[in-house]
Amino acid sequence: MFRHRDLRRLTRGLRFRLTATYALFFAVLLFAAAAIFRQRLENVQARQVEETLDGDWKALKGYLRIEWDQELGKYAGSWYYSDEDPDETTIVLDIKKVYVITDLDGNIIQNAVTKELEVSTIFDDIGVDRKEIQAQVKEALAARKPKIFLTEKRGSEGDRYEVRSGLVYAEKHGPPFYVAIGTPLAQNAKILREFTLVYVAIIPSALLLGLFLGWFMAGRALTPVLAVAQAAQRISGSNLKLRIPTRQAGDELDYLILTFNRMIERLEASFQQMRQFSTDVSHELRTPITAIRGQLEVALFTAKTTEQYREAMFNALQDIDRLSQIVRALLLLSQAESGQLVLQKSRLNLCEVVEDLVEQFQIPAEEAGIRLTASLPRDCAVDVDRVQIERMITNLLSNAIKFTPKGGEVKMSIERSGESVAMVVEDTGRGIPTEYLPHIFDRFYRVPGSGTAPSPEQGLGLGLSFVSWIVRAHDGKVDVQSTPGKGTRFTITLPSADVGTVAGEPVAAS
Ligand code: ADP
Repeated sequence: MFRHRDLRRLTRGLRFRLTATYALFFAVLLFAAAAIFRQRLENVQARQVEETLDGDWKALKGYLRIEWDQELGKYAGSWYYSDEDPDETTIVLDIKKVYVITDLDGNIIQNAVTKELEVSTIFDDIGVDRKEIQAQVKEALAARKPKIFLTEKRGSEGDRYEVRSGLVYAEKHGPPFYVAIGTPLAQNAKILREFTLVYVAIIPSALLLGLFLGWFMAGRALTPVLAVAQAAQRISGSNLKLRIPTRQAGDELDYLILTFNRMIERLEASFQQMRQFSTDVSHELRTPITAIRGQLEVALFTAKTTEQYREAMFNALQDIDRLSQIVRALLLLSQAESGQLVLQKSRLNLCEVVEDLVEQFQIPAEEAGIRLTASLPRDCAVDVDRVQIERMITNLLSNAIKFTPKGGEVKMSIERSGESVAMVVEDTGRGIPTEYLPHIFDRFYRVPGSGTAPSPEQGLGLGLSFVSWIVRAHDGKVDVQSTPGKGTRFTITLPSADVGTVAGEPVAAS
């Protein structure tokens, strides 16, 4: 059972599969190469046989004469060549071993054995088939052009021969004779057999070598992968600072390591954010809870009159309000950022929305001694979630009023340009020092106060986090410019809904 599982794990491993693929490929390659080589060798051998027979046939026609022998009273073959010419002698002696002449009926007139040489010849081994000769003669006589026959024959012991035969005319007006020559194929067959045997012997060892090589190479290629996996295993939630070292090879694996490291970097950042967030939340909640506790203690131990009780209860209630305000805001923000809050978009005139809100903020602005004005075009259509957009403008306006001293000014304006609508909230308030600007959209972030009223501690530090999320959710952009002591300017850019819909309408040039 255990061994079976072990085997399964091994066969599923990348190293095993790589090696198996490699070995299979190697085997197919070896067999294909063997088949091709063998085929080529066979072709070369066949061509050689053909060339030998061709040469012999030409030589035979050149040196052999078939004439009427007066002494014997019949036709007989004789050879014309010079004894002194060693070349001619060798050629003729060679052909003499492998030829036969018969009449048109297949009766042997002459062959190497019957007459001139006492050596074993091809036709001594394969014999003379009269029926076949008669058939070939018939076919050759019927043919218009001189006909040559090529046949393969087997000797008494199974040796193979290639035979070339046809009709030869003895004299100009004499009768034709049947002549055949042959060449043994045994040597060729032996070479082919030996080649096959050698190859069959080589293939398993080559395959084994290929297998070892494949196993070794796959191992080498996969070792760094295992090292990366081991390094990755050491990284956990508590030591996200660790990184996998790159191998400086600039290959795919390094790219993988780099990607992995970047992913851990992002994880680390969000872990850090989460940790910061929970610290912030507990800190934020502790303040009102401590206050409530204080109020209740006052009510329990020191309050004597009804008036004092009422005051303590009233203060406690106020702190509870603040507590539930924080909890509600946090819940909403986490819903928004986790994508659970779905935008209910509809087409609306942003100018009207802004006008209404500016109207509503006139009372608190007046109370704070601030002049609140708006400069808006007649209409600017946007596809937005009304509730969220109102929340965004409310947050920006209340911040502007909160952080602008008496006698100051808050201005709202909208500008349309091409494909977007830019909404500006500008104040002449205390401004935000440049070093704090990057943090103002963080949750619970409040610019450290200068001690002068109004106290920033009154806010939750969540308003601008909402603004940032709402702008992002509407594919918009938020920009802040601020000069400490002079004022702040928030610019929100949202995509316009007018693009391409109202053809011919003059678009504001600015
Ligand atoms: P809060 O509830 O404290 O207003 P926000 O997230 O809305 O929280 O703002 C974060 C901080 O950014 C504020 O505490 C304040 O210090 C600073 N801030 C925001 N708007 C302005 C402004 N118009 N002028 C000066 N400071 C501002």
